[in-house]
Amino acid sequence: MADFEGNKSAAEGYLQRFHDQVTGHYLNGEMRVPPGAETFSNLTPSDNSSLGQVVAGTADDVNAACEAARDAFPAWRDMPGAERKKLLHHFADLIVERAEEIALVESMDCGQPIRFMQQAAQRGAANFRFFADKAPEARNGLALHQEQHTNYTIRSPLGPVAVITPWNTPFMLATWKIAPALAAGCTVVHKPAELSPLSAMLLAEISLQAGIPPGVWNTVNGFGETAGKALTEHPAIKAVALVGESATGSHIMRQGADTLKRVHFELGGKNPVIVFDDAHFERALDAVVFMIYSLNGQRCTSSSRLLIQSGIRDHFIAALEQRVKALRVGHPLDPATEVGPLVHSGHFEKVMSYMDIAREDGATVAVGGTRRQDLGPGNYVSPTLFTQADNNMRVAREEIFGPVLTAISFDTEEEALQIANDTEYGLSGYIWTGDTGRALRMANRVEAGMIWVNSENNRNLPSPFGGAKMSGIGRDGGDYSFDFYMETKNVCIAHDIHKVPVLGR
Ligand code: NAD
Repeated sequence: MADFEGNKSAAEGYLQRFHDQVTGHYLNGEMRVPPGAETFSNLTPSDNSSLGQVVAGTADDVNAACEAARDAFPAWRDMPGAERKKLLHHFADLIVERAEEIALVESMDCGQPIRFMQQAAQRGAANFRFFADKAPEARNGLALHQEQHTNYTIRSPLGPVAVITPWNTPFMLATWKIAPALAAGCTVVHKPAELSPLSAMLLAEISLQAGIPPGVWNTVNGFGETAGKALTEHPAIKAVALVGESATGSHIMRQGADTLKRVHFELGGKNPVIVFDDAHFERALDAVVFMIYSLNGQRCTSSSRLLIQSGIRDHFIAALEQRVKALRVGHPLDPATEVGPLVHSGHFEKVMSYMDIAREDGATVAVGGTRRQDLGPGNYVSPTLFTQADNNMRVAREEIFGPVLTAISFDTEEEALQIANDTEYGLSGYIWTGDTGRALRMANRVEAGMIWVNSENNRNLPSPFGGAKMSGIGRDGGDYSFDFYMETKNVCIAHDIHKVPVLGR
């Protein structure tokens, strides 16, 4: 990757076309701006200037996308898995070819520092390759033998599905959800977040380049309340995969009720990182800092509640304060930047409102708490640490989704467990201890879909990814993704030795 100036000039080049022409939809194999379409400005978080106009999709646009996905489904479903595998690998190759463009466009669109976005294309390509390799076997289910019968299961793709993604890491999340849907044999209508639509258009272009047949992949831009709502209500859509806020999950469940949509939700979190006195101090400190301040704290699995045991509390908090003060906040395209601007001024205001809420509730703003005026008109927040907090405060209960950490002290393992579980969310939990027995006990009892012991969030594509409680429904990864995108059919065959019940003979 180039230096800051090099990144800026390359990004300008890649972004020019979004200034020059309205970003439309990708429907049935064509980029389309419907005549007379309403548009909205897409702003860059770096200085809130416009990156161009984007079409605000209507119910008619959604209908066109859903019909295209419905019409394309039978041929895509019946394409041999080995052929889908080839196409999806080709897709991954094309992602890698456009890695620089994807990273720079994504950084400018959603404010994530380039140091974290550099790997976006590789990770997106890995999502495609992983599920491409599984495509040929996706239909195979289990053989379940009984004495007098043999059962076997077959899986078949559900049909057209909706994929609705958020703005925090839009490219990565779109590939994570769409790759398994396509590998399973479903067709897709994707609605990216209105605050970060650009990388979704790059993906749509790649789908065209890769030879994914028209209608198999469709993208509709627009707002959740209009385009998103119409998509989740459309009768052709058999399932909705959402990554977003918990409240959005509730809306979609209601919207999809009449057509009995299958839903998969990856939602919000207020994830605890629990650091015991016997933890490896430096490794735990590194991970605590990384898991809340990387990706601007706009990360579902961020450890936004630090539960710190009293024996090391003062020492750990002092070290943490130094690290948080030293974080480099700056322009997303500057390779030195560790924390970039928040996605949108509205989200920035929401995050800033928690500074006063913390003080009113009695917490101490130990570091940060202010706007970085010196960085100009972008949405720059100084990385913030709240101390002297307890778990009843709003800063310990609500998902802030910014570079903001709430530290809470505890004395015993039992107390740590009680605090960790005293939340409506249950996405992930992080446990730092040198005691294996305690790690196992805590891993067993912390209520979350994913637990990492002595580690930051470590990705493994075959492992189940998802949340408990208000953090989600369903799991992604490995075969779990296929369970969602496919219908399972059991076939039971008699060995002709069992007694068939006799009536009326
Ligand atoms: P959001 O819920 O506001 O929006 C997500 C998507 O849903 C957007 O595309 C939006 O347009 C759409 N949407 C909104 N209302 C809708 C409706 N009524 N019908 C249909 N679609 C609708 O979320 P966001 O603010 O974009 O993203 C941040 C949230 O995402 C956070 O809560 C974060 O924790 C969560 N998230 C979760 C995971 C996970 O894996 N659990 C990963 C990343 C982000």
